[in-house]
Amino acid sequence: MNSPTLAVIIPCYNEEECIEFTTLRLLEILKNLETNQEISSSSFIFYVNDGSNDNTWNIVQKYNKETQGKVKGIKFSRNFGNQKAILAGLLETSKNDVDCFITIDADLQQDENKIKEFIDKYKQGAKIICGIRNDRKTDGLFKKITALGFYKIMNLLGVNIKINHSDYRLVSREVVETLKKFNETNLFLRGMFNELGYKKDYVYFDVKPRKFGKTKFSPFSLFSLAINGITSFSLVPLRMVTFIGFLMSIISILVGISALIDKITNNNPVPGWATIVVTIGFICGIQILCLGIIAEYLGQLFQEVKARPRYIIEEEII
Ligand code: UDP
Ligand code: MG
Repeated sequence: MNSPTLAVIIPCYNEEECIEFTTLRLLEILKNLETNQEISSSSFIFYVNDGSNDNTWNIVQKYNKETQGKVKGIKFSRNFGNQKAILAGLLETSKNDVDCFITIDADLQQDENKIKEFIDKYKQGAKIICGIRNDRKTDGLFKKITALGFYKIMNLLGVNIKINHSDYRLVSREVVETLKKFNETNLFLRGMFNELGYKKDYVYFDVKPRKFGKTKFSPFSLFSLAINGITSFSLVPLRMVTFIGFLMSIISILVGISALIDKITNNNPVPGWATIVVTIGFICGIQILCLGIIAEYLGQLFQEVKARPRYIIEEEII
């Protein structure tokens, strides 16, 4: 427990500009921690090359040779997305004798100097230590608003994840063993780790601007991660659909009754063509939205039922 073996797991997709700097920086950090006997000398860096079509994998192979295996990695057969790359890193490195695992982005936007703090908290007994961003200064306005909105919605739907939670995280071996029992295809790791229980702790860090290359997430991929997060962790939207349908029926019955009373007492024809058109349009919109929500869950089920492999490893240096 005094010097646990640490695996630093890094998902990467077209990160040739970052990866040299990142490797050297992390090797330096590991060396310091090893010298101070904070971690064991068999600790290592593990890249998950998520279908990059640049030089990323060649650089990983080069460092593997130069460091006599201190840098290891796997190469996916194609791009499977960052969540699957992180999961694969955890599952594959657990085949080695690892005590704790840290996941961090290839661009080192997340403050790598905090790795020691993660290790300290692990030694104090926490099994899942989540990195929480202090702020979102480096994000554009659009990402700031949508990210905050997402966490608020998740909390409202009963999924209790901390605002500004990131995938910079340390987990213990026990947690990874438990994670192996979760076979879902659609991954939202922040939610999954939350679900597992275990003693948790938090490390707060500042996000740096990206030094090399540019973000690998498009607004579309962030949107799909958010929808995945919601539909794989909450059934509230489905219940909302039922509730809206019920409410709409009650309202239309009441409107019908009032129109009937109006007809009988005042002999007034129902006035307002515009009102009718607007109401129909509105109800159509709600119906399509509700169908969309149901379709999202159906899509999830479709993918889960097929139970295809979550990732395919083409090459490995373990
Ligand atoms: N990433 C990945 N697969 C993808 C997209 C991203 O493995 O399909 C990796 C990427 O290489 C990086 C991490 O996920 O290590 C976070 O990506 P990025 O820094 O581009 O995201 P941002 O910081 O802009 O949210
Ligand atoms: Mg980044």
